[in-house]
Amino acid sequence: MKKEKVTAIVLAAGQGTRMGGKTAKQYLLLDGRPVLYYALLAFEKSMVDEIILVAGEKDLPFCRTEIVEKYGFSKVTRIVAGGKERYHSVYQGLKAAGGADYVLIHDGARPFVSDDIISRTIEAVKKEKACVVAMPVKDTIKIANEDHYAIETPNRSKVWMIQTPQAFSYDLILHAYEKVLASGDAVITDDAMVLEKAENIPVKLVQGSYTNIKITTPEDMKIAEIFLKDR
Ligand code: C5P
Repeated sequence: MKKEKVTAIVLAAGQGTRMGGKTAKQYLLLDGRPVLYYALLAFEKSMVDEIILVAGEKDLPFCRTEIVEKYGFSKVTRIVAGGKERYHSVYQGLKAAGGADYVLIHDGARPFVSDDIISRTIEAVKKEKACVVAMPVKDTIKIANEDHYAIETPNRSKVWMIQTPQAFSYDLILHAYEKVLASGDAVITDDAMVLEKAENIPVKLVQGSYTNIKITTPEDMKIAEIFLKDR
């Protein structure tokens, strides 16, 4: 039987407006190395066959020489330019991933994805076709209206925070993205939403970790420094 090809798409084309400052969050330094380095290292050491890095157009040379070549990430086969919103960047990554059987889409701003999470995600996607890494919420969540009055309280035991990687059968996710992009639907913050909108396919939640944080605001860097020391 032909070996199935698993490709990781690592996203690093965001500008990170919630972080303030000039440097995009994926390039901030953690113990002297960019946040993105840690995400790429996890996939380089994992079972995935290939990595596609999606970065901002102007950062492509920097990513090639100062990250991929400098640290010898041999699984990175292509570095492609992303787009305005995250889902545009994902689509560019998907187009560059032709030949893959499964794709794992990961935020380059999540440096603490572990080998265990990656392996369990690959195992799950081969069985389920669509799965996302997630953790149960710790706080009670409220849905609010535009005037910030609470209007609904979902049952906490049913609410999960979605992390990455998000993994899919390649043809399924490419087709779903093409359908949603063609319809002009623009409020897409995660990849499972694309499937929820385009296809009637259940998405399985795979247990992640409370350390698999996304660097978003300045205090996340302080937390990341503590997690890094603990590894
Ligand atoms: O902005 P957000 O925190 O949702 O970004 C999640 C990930 O998606 C980050 O790694 C960021 O670099 C990436 N991204 C991207 N292209 C965009 C926006 C975000 O690759 N246009």
